[in-house]
Amino acid sequence: MLYCLNCRKFINKKHNHKTIFVHNELMVVFKMLMERGFKVISTSLETYDLFLGHPYIDKITHIQIEFGALYPKALLDGLPPNWALYEYHTVDDDKCISDYTYSAISCSERHPITESGKADIRYAKRLNISNLECYLSDIDPAAFWSVLKLGGIEPY
Ligand SMILES: [Zn+2]
Repeated sequence: MLYCLNCRKFINKKHNHKTIFVHNELMVVFKMLMERGFKVISTSLETYDLFLGHPYIDKITHIQIEFGALYPKALLDGLPPNWALYEYHTVDDDKCISDYTYSAISCSERHPITESGKADIRYAKRLNISNLECYLSDIDPAAFWSVLKLGGIEPY
């Protein structure tokens, strides 16, 4: 579904604002993050084939959620297995690393040849996403907003 970052709602048709696409599978996570004051600026979810000839890994599923702000590592401490918090630096036109950094969480799972059928992959995806949903459900939205504010971060 399309989400408008300006109107802050899901929309049916692309309009003149910056919109992002949110996969159905990531909808719950997306809503939970927004409720907790995270500014999500992009989400992606894909499974791709690994280079041919790897002895036992066939495909990789990669999920990434990028934020429009830099969040201290402590805020997302103890993420579920396969999930990690990253810091990204943007690169300016002159190829210099700019001061602007932002956070993202991502999850990578390798699917062995013996477990890379459609159902296996669907299951693995679902498991990783529901682990993140559980993790987020333990974070109380109101309490988290105060933590953000105390850290000088404006909740989205
Ligand atoms: Zn809009």
